[in-house]
Amino acid sequence: MTGSRAAEHGAVVVGAGPAGLAAAEVLAGAGLPVTVIERMPSPARKLLIAGRGGLNLTHSEPLDRFLARYHPAEPGLLAAIDRFPPDALRHWCEDLGQPTFVGSSGRVFPRAFKASPLLRAWLARLDGLGVRLRTRTRWTGWDEAGALRIEGPDGAEVLRPAATVLALGGASWPRLGSDGAWVPVLERAGATVAPLRPANMGFRVPWSTVFAGRFAGAPLKRIALSLGVHRARGEAVVTRDGIEGGVVYALSRPLREAVLAEGSVTARLDLRPDLDEAVLARRLGAAKPGQSRATTLRKAAGLDPVAAGLLREAAGPDGLPTDPARLAGLVKAAPLRLTGLQPIERAISTAGGVAAESLDGRLMLRTHPGTFLAGEMIDWEAPTGGYLLQASFATGRAAAAGALDWLRAQSIHR
Ligand SMILES: Cc1cc2nc3c(=O)[nH]c(=O)nc-3n(C[C@H](O)[C@H](O)[C@H](O)COP(=O)(O)OP(=O)(O)OC[C@H]3O[C@@H](n4cnc5c(N)ncnc54)[C@H](O)[C@@H]3O)c2cc1C
Repeated sequence: MTGSRAAEHGAVVVGAGPAGLAAAEVLAGAGLPVTVIERMPSPARKLLIAGRGGLNLTHSEPLDRFLARYHPAEPGLLAAIDRFPPDALRHWCEDLGQPTFVGSSGRVFPRAFKASPLLRAWLARLDGLGVRLRTRTRWTGWDEAGALRIEGPDGAEVLRPAATVLALGGASWPRLGSDGAWVPVLERAGATVAPLRPANMGFRVPWSTVFAGRFAGAPLKRIALSLGVHRARGEAVVTRDGIEGGVVYALSRPLREAVLAEGSVTARLDLRPDLDEAVLARRLGAAKPGQSRATTLRKAAGLDPVAAGLLREAAGPDGLPTDPARLAGLVKAAPLRLTGLQPIERAISTAGGVAAESLDGRLMLRTHPGTFLAGEMIDWEAPTGGYLLQASFATGRAAAAGALDWLRAQSIHR
């Protein structure tokens, strides 16, 4: 990106992730000189990693169901998505020469599948709008006069923009740039910050050494995980010290809250969600006399070695029940004791962040007029499925719109 110095009447966006770049596009599109400050050597590293296994941009389900995925369901967040909903995001991609498609589960991806072509086209558009990108430059807070303090390759500096958008991300995968170091800075500035916690992450399970040694890395396919009223179908992966993957992420919020409150929680794994318990019991009861347990579980219950091993872990020292009905019951609801959270460094996203009460309807920080917030640093969370990026793009645009609105009001009252 090219451009002018950070003009005092222009805008500064801190954080070149999807939220910050979305804000920069709206601000520059309105004719404002915009400087983006990014601590890493290049922009949007998390977006690029997110796209490695397929960039799930958003979801195609009806908007009311889509909006119900967010917790807490804050009006400011929902209004931002309402103003820039999944269809608008898909049009925006198409405008950048990156048409999208709906995958089998309703998830939306760019046709190119990965993030790099989209990011390249986006950065070129921002460059065309005159947005200046300053990498390797970290925002460290405000000075006594309210100016932004930054530190870059040329040393420390202060900036006095007319409006600021902070889009600093959460604290997952810190090596990609967002490290949560902003929390004490914003707390000192008077914001209420809910503790940053892992979201869409794995959990610890006290596997036996034998099970962990044999099955770490093995996928558990076509299973269901439940906790109380919460239930998700899909896949999971056994790790050396726990479990992660789709069904675990889908329930990560209630599981996390239970583990944080109680120290551990017992969820239930249905290893054959497509099979009725009574049918399963009949099949298990019809096994040939003398057939080994492993063969019965494979042939009658269709369990592969990792699922059968997990069933043995669930049965504990008493071993697998011999009664077919009780065995079927175990296959359908094997207890899975989760004793801890995988660290935030390995989580897909972050829960917690700046509380809604610290922001006004334009996403402006109440204690710092002229400073607007966007993206994962705000207190909301959502499952995987495109909801994270959708909210990041939408709040980035909403924060910029809020800044423009505020700047207009300032000039009228001056
Ligand atoms: C492995 C992985 C896969 C994912 N896949 C998907 C997916 O398919 N779909 C989906 O919806 N979501 C996915 N996500 C989540 C998604 O990437 C994030 O929700 C999104 O990037 C958040 O955007 P953001 O702009 O708020 O923050 P970030 O993308 O984290 O950007 C924040 C930026 O601010 C910079 N920054 C932080 N502090 C400072 C500072 N003090 N000064 C200057 N710069 C600073 C950081 O370096 C960073 O570049 C995935 C995440 C991971 C880790």
